[in-house]
Amino acid sequence: YYEKIQQAERLKTSGQLAAAVAHEIRNPITVVKGFLDLYKNDPKIKLEMGSHFQLMSDELDTAEHVISQFLAIAKPNLDQSTEVVNVRETLKSVSDLLKSYGVLNDNVIELEVDDKCYIQVNKIEFKQLMINLIKNAIEASKNGSAISVTGKRQKDDVEMQIIDNGCGMSEQEVKALGTPFYSLKSKGTGLGLMICFNMVAQYNGTLKFDSVEGEGTTVTIRFPATKSSR
Ligand code: ADP
Ligand code: MG
Repeated sequence: YYEKIQQAERLKTSGQLAAAVAHEIRNPITVVKGFLDLYKNDPKIKLEMGSHFQLMSDELDTAEHVISQFLAIAKPNLDQSTEVVNVRETLKSVSDLLKSYGVLNDNVIELEVDDKCYIQVNKIEFKQLMINLIKNAIEASKNGSAISVTGKRQKDDVEMQIIDNGCGMSEQEVKALGTPFYSLKSKGTGLGLMICFNMVAQYNGTLKFDSVEGEGTTVTIRFPATKSSR
């Protein structure tokens, strides 16, 4: 229970932080990037410093990415509407999406989702949640290994699991998950899981990490089940 309060406090603080940071930084970045892109195509600059300009532009893209992730928490999603979501169909489309965007480094997603799994959520947010979690599983895994994604009814809940045989985490590392900017990746933002915890809590769901260092991680997501509207 105490941990739950801590988590809520963490989310509240990070939300306030997000609002401040995003608004202060987003506009200047957009301006600078606009000028950079303008100069980038100047023939003289292109010839002499093209690669520098590309680098600057790419770095600003990264900064913008961080900020939009921030805004996803600070600014409530404008479209807050929820619907009855068919978990099997949605996870299939998430898996197809990851494939078509080449996010999988030869990794295979093994989908095993029961029919009759329905939850009441905002579909876009739910997809974002699963994309974030599956991407983390892929990034933790060796090229070519399998990621298992399952879904089933468990009493009044729909339980989903994402299982990888990747690098895993220590107990300390698992405890830090959800902290803003906590990332062990050189190009990570450490914001993905903060957004995930936020979203799951919003729908009275739970998000749990079981991990063994060097062996892999199992992520368990639970949402209250709802009946099909069809
Ligand atoms: P990012 O992916 O940008 O680093 P996240 O908030 O998505 O930020 O994840 C935070 C950190 O949690 C990651 O950098 C990684 O160290 C750890 N992590 C998350 N999922 C896994 C996983 N499936 N296996 C191992 N480590 C993980
Ligand atoms: Mg991530």
